Formats: sequence, structure tokens, C-alpha cells
Amino acid sequence: HAKNTGRNNYCLFEPGMDAFLEKRKLLETDLGLALERDEFELHFQPRVSVEQSRIVSYEALVRWRHPERGLVSPADFIPIAEQGGKIVAIGDWVLRTACLAAQNEFGAARVSVNVSPVQFRQKSFVESVAAILEETGLAPGRLEIEITEGVLIDDDNRAGLILKQLKQLGITIALDDFGTGYSSLGYLSRFPFDTIKIDRSFVRELTSSENARAIINTIVGLGCGLRMKVVAEGVETVEEAAILAMSGCNELQGFLLGRPLPIGEMSADADQEVASIIAQARDMQPEM
Ligand code: C2E
Ligand code: MG
Ligand code: MG
Ligand code: MG
Repeated sequence: HAKNTGRNNYCLFEPGMDAFLEKRKLLETDLGLALERDEFELHFQPRVSVEQSRIVSYEALVRWRHPERGLVSPADFIPIAEQGGKIVAIGDWVLRTACLAAQNEFGAARVSVNVSPVQFRQKSFVESVAAILEETGLAPGRLEIEITEGVLIDDDNRAGLILKQLKQLGITIALDDFGTGYSSLGYLSRFPFDTIKIDRSFVRELTSSENARAIINTIVGLGCGLRMKVVAEGVETVEEAAILAMSGCNELQGFLLGRPLPIGEMSADADQEVASIIAQARDMQPEM
């Protein structure tokens, strides 16, 4: 079969390619009907304050319950939804459903919602956020929007303007997956982020790599200096939590503290459970 021999010589007949495109086409067709068929669900994952030892927020993570394929992960369908433009309607649904959940189920805890660059660049984006806040009655201060660097890359001005308008609504903004991609430090000083979310790839290496620990300490210091909250994603072990707590990281998120779950499956004692995990992490002397 064709080999990739040079930069202009694309590998058109890679085995598996047909199947890949075929699957993608099928998903794309089904995706067009998924909203009206009510096939999306939101799962929520807690964010835990180290200082307060309790859940202070939940991140909304969308899933697609496909009638034949079962639960499809956002990594598999968000890119397809972005290309066909369906992400705008899906994103609206996510935002509305997440705000309703926060308003009705989360007590005082906040909610954070991922927003795709395609959705963010829609002319109507700020208006639709305002309308959804109005419609659901959620206090704007309880909503955080998570964006990735992809939103900031090609134009500096428009993205900055939208962020400013969003902040004027009273919501907060998080920079997601920080440390991956280009991670220009310029972004941090130019744009009004409230929160930095350290990417899971650093957290995963915390216990084995001194470099990863140095990077985390630096991001925490940076966040502190810029008055931004620092959240670690993907915390899976007590030892990681211990290192992060020691570094001064403000909030922890990850399977250790709680997996993403639909509201009906959340534990009623979640706050006590996370308090005991944070206490364990605090007592631990991480080996470094
Ligand atoms: P993200 O926003 O960085 O979300 C964190 C991802 O890490 C989630 O994957 C979550 O389930 C996973 N995760 C959390 N804790 C742990 C852990 O301790 N270990 C490991 N291995 N993974 C952990 P998920 O739900 O599959 O979402 C993947 C990505 O899809 C998200 O990354 C986000 O970029 C995107 N996404 C999810 N929901 C939405 C949405 O409603 N709209 C948009 N535009 N994107 C979404
Ligand atoms: Mg996120
Ligand atoms: Mg992330
Ligand atoms: Mg991510």
C-alpha cells in the first residue's frame, strides 16, 4: 500500500482509512438528529477546594447516548460537530442544561462549562449566554466558562473583546488544558482569566518527574501573582493530591475526588468523602 514518502505524498490508502471515514460519516448523520432525539446527557465532575475541603464547583461534561453505539465520548463527536457547525446548537443545550442543574441541584456550588472555539466565535455567543442566564435564573457569578488556547490564537482583538463582554455579565473565565499547545505567557497577561486549569499531562507525571513538579510550582506561582485561581485536572492518587496541596494549588479535580456522573448517580455524602481525601493528602508526606 501507499507509504508516506515525502511531504506532498499523502497516504491516501492507509488501511483503516475507509472504515474511519465511513464511521465518521455515519456519526455525522446521526449527530444531526441527536438533539431532537434528546440523546445528549451531561455528567458533572466535582472541583474541590483544598483550603475549604469541599466541593466548590462542578464541570459539565457532555456525552452522547447513541442508540446503537452506546455512550460516545466528546473527544469523538465534538470535532465532528465543530466541522458541521452543529456545535453551536449542542453548546447552547449544554449551557442551558448545566445552568439549570446548578440552579436546581448544586446548592451554592458553581458550574463550569466547556465552550468550543467555533461556538465562542459566533456573533451571538455573548447574547446567548446572557439569555440562558436570564432564562434559567442562575446568578452569573455561579457560572464559569472554560476555553482553550485555540480560542485565542488567530485574532487577539476579537477574542479579548468577547471575554470582556462575558466578564461584564458577571461570569468567570477559565483557561483549560494550560501548558499544552502553545501556552504563550502573553495570553495570561493579555486576557482576563479568573482560573488556570493545569493540564492532566503534568499531573500524571508529578510523582515521577521533578521537572513536572517544577512546572506545577511555577504555574501556581504565576497564578498567585496574577490573582488567578489554579486548578489541577486529572488528579488520580492521594500522593498527587498531596504534592498539589503542598504546592499551593487552589482546587483539585480528578477521579480521586470524583468521576464525572449524571446528577442522579451522585453520592449524597460527596462532601464528606472529599473532605476525608483532602485530609489524607494533607497528612501525607509525599516522597520527593
Ligand atoms: P476537559 O475540559 O479538559 O475535561 C477533562 C477531561 O478529563 C474529561 O474527559 C474528564 O472526564 C477527564 N478526567 C477528569 N478527571 C480525570 C482523571 O482523574 N483521569 C483521567 N484519565 N481523566 C480525567 P471527557 O469528559 O471525555 O471530555 C474530554 C474533552 O471534551 C474535555 O476536556 C473538553 O475539552 C471536551 N468537552 C467535554 N464536554 C464538552 C462540552 O460540553 N462542550 C465542548 N465544547 N467540549 C466538551
Ligand atoms: Mg474543561
Ligand atoms: Mg482540561
Ligand atoms: Mg481537555
